[in-house]
Amino acid sequence: MNEEIITLKHGEGTKASYNLIREVFLKKLSNPILAQLTDAATIGKFVYSCDSFTVDPIFFPGSDIGKLSVFGTVNDICVSGGIPKYLSLAMIVEEGFLKSDLIRIVNSINLASRISKVDIVSGDFKVVERGKADKIFISTSGIGEKIQNANPSFKNIKNKDKIIVTGSIGEHGISVMLSRKKIFEFNIKSDCQSLKKLVTSLWMKFPQINFMRDPTRGGIASVLNEIYLGSKKGIRIFEENIPVRRDVKAACEILGIDPYYLACEGRAVLIVPDKISRKVLNFLKKTSKSASIIGEIDDNVKGVVLETVSGGERILDFSHSFNLPRIC
Ligand code: MG
Repeated sequence: MNEEIITLKHGEGTKASYNLIREVFLKKLSNPILAQLTDAATIGKFVYSCDSFTVDPIFFPGSDIGKLSVFGTVNDICVSGGIPKYLSLAMIVEEGFLKSDLIRIVNSINLASRISKVDIVSGDFKVVERGKADKIFISTSGIGEKIQNANPSFKNIKNKDKIIVTGSIGEHGISVMLSRKKIFEFNIKSDCQSLKKLVTSLWMKFPQINFMRDPTRGGIASVLNEIYLGSKKGIRIFEENIPVRRDVKAACEILGIDPYYLACEGRAVLIVPDKISRKVLNFLKKTSKSASIIGEIDDNVKGVVLETVSGGERILDFSHSFNLPRIC
């Protein structure tokens, strides 16, 4: 008999990882807080989250595993309606790792935590034998203060709500892929950045925003499918409104990748009541010209429907076989 095994796709934001979370983790560990499946848990006045980072390569255009490990957790707390304050930092390092690279990463962590105005208040450092890990893995957890009127939840999402992305998509994923494959004719930097300033001011100004998630693993396609499954509301997306830079599109064509599945590390997807959607967009446009209303909640459709530039329609599903492991 074939025993089922865990494969790379279980860690990639695919349908397989979505199902594994339900079949293995939620089945045994669920409670009312975990079951909400937001990017961070809201516990009274606190918002709490954790994340692990295994990106390969550890240094890539525009960023590195150090910055990523701070911004990743900071951004999860922000999109969940919290103001991140304190982080923990745990590292697993493979024997033989260069001390100069470790110092470079810690300098990056320092810079990213200053930018995000968070303090690293707890830490752990472990070393494993050569070949028992790949260079360095980092885990962070973070705690923040809940913004009083921000209450993002799948339950808030209603027909006709607008879907907004805060900037162009896919730059993080493609920059990691290009450097992994040693393709140097593009100059695409990761979008890895702190969302703290932008998202905190969004929640302060527009507490009516119904839901937010950062499209990391699996890109906007996975996030939209998670929103569909979480809210049970159909989604219609307009291809011509999705901001993808021309060089990202060109690189995607070379690598045979659909940009909608590429991870972003400094963008958010917002579900916003129709009434305030223009105001939210205009607010975003002040700092991010590529912010865009990409679609809407549509009770007449099932799943995530993409209206193509040529006027056709296709289902934008979770990726089933997409092979982009260790992107964050
Ligand atoms: Mg997230």
